Amino acid sequence: MALIVQKFGGTSVANPEKIKAVAARVMGYSRQGHKVVVVLSAMAGETNRLISLATEVQEQPDTREMDVLLSSGEQVTVALFAMAVKAAGQEAVSLLGDQVKIITDTMHTKARIKSIDTEPITRHLAAGKIVVVAGFQGVTDDLDITTLGRGGSDTTAVALAAALKADQCEIYTDVEGVYTTDPNICSSARKIDRISYDEMLELASLGAKVLDIRSVGFAKRYKVPVHVRSTFTEAVGTLVVEEDKDMESMLVSGVTYNKNEARITLSKVQDVPGVASKIFTPISDAGIVVDMIIQNTRAGEMTDMTFTVPRTDYKKAMSIVQDIVAEIGAGDVTGSEQIAKVSIVGVGMRNHSGIATTMFRILAEEGINIQMISTSEIKVSCVIDEKYTELAVRSLHDGFGLHQTGQSV
Ligand code: ADP
Ligand code: ASP
Ligand code: MG
Repeated sequence: MALIVQKFGGTSVANPEKIKAVAARVMGYSRQGHKVVVVLSAMAGETNRLISLATEVQEQPDTREMDVLLSSGEQVTVALFAMAVKAAGQEAVSLLGDQVKIITDTMHTKARIKSIDTEPITRHLAAGKIVVVAGFQGVTDDLDITTLGRGGSDTTAVALAAALKADQCEIYTDVEGVYTTDPNICSSARKIDRISYDEMLELASLGAKVLDIRSVGFAKRYKVPVHVRSTFTEAVGTLVVEEDKDMESMLVSGVTYNKNEARITLSKVQDVPGVASKIFTPISDAGIVVDMIIQNTRAGEMTDMTFTVPRTDYKKAMSIVQDIVAEIGAGDVTGSEQIAKVSIVGVGMRNHSGIATTMFRILAEEGINIQMISTSEIKVSCVIDEKYTELAVRSLHDGFGLHQTGQSV
């Protein structure tokens, strides 16, 4: 008899019929004698709907109130799910973030989990109930509701699995596992059977939203094996585990894209010590995470500075930068929300040269202009015009041979 945490994403609980179908599947595990903790997302589209409601009322919504609003999506699905189980004659109980005591910091809309009290869950499990926990939400020490950032239900599930020392953590979603790239935009994407925490961390950080990055961080830290699989089939999915020698050792293991960033450029910035700190300190003080930064060399004593921020923080970052421009005597500020970052990822890149140039050639052959580049040991990222994202992903995927099992460059 095992203790299993099973998380179902928004498309898996998109309507009452799907909720009933998922409940039936979970009850099957419970009838086999397993203890099951279910973590649910809001119905597909619901979190987006709530965000647009908020922006209709307040242009830059107050983040504390935003969390009160957003957490309602998961409250609906856990209640309906528990009803579905009870209607089918089994015992279940729904619990919200504050009832489980998922304690977080106070960073509203992107809070981090500090601790979890497992007692309420183990008590209900011992009473023979299926425990249904609202994903994505927590509570501060002062009892304010928080949310964990988009895709945060994955993190709730893995953090619960770690805290409960569960035997398994299964992430059920609308695809059959982790693929070499998003199977919804590239038909030749292949399912990966096993992937290491480190490689998954990289894929997730660069946009493979099939697993939220913080969930992979928890999984790695607490050694929780995660099984990503489909809600709609019985097929075995992808195991995210510690690196071992049986793993496919590919030069490039995946292609990702991220359309959630925006670019800001300050032109004619004075090229003197202290300028970067003056620009980026107020931005980080506002809780905005800057991703790529490029500083050009220019003739004279001026330079251009370009960087990317999450698209949701674009307006806030722009207004901060506009205030600094006057102070540091820079030229104008321009920006674009229509950008995408496409990346190739693979630990095999460490010992190979020429991977980045192959990427640049593939993009050039499609007539795609590269606006920014960043590299690390195991990834190369390029910022391009958003409208070429799908074309870039497909060309890179097949160009690096990921559509075949034996890869060539
Ligand atoms: P859920 O609502 O179940 O959390 P998400 O939409 O957050 O599901 O994540 C699943 C989606 O992730 C898939 O439908 C797919 O479009 C996308 N995706 C992006 N990159 C990958 C990848 N490398 N492998 C699998 N899915 C991916
Ligand atoms: N409902 C939240 C979102 O859409 C959390 C999640 O689904 O994981 O981002
Ligand atoms: Mg998700």
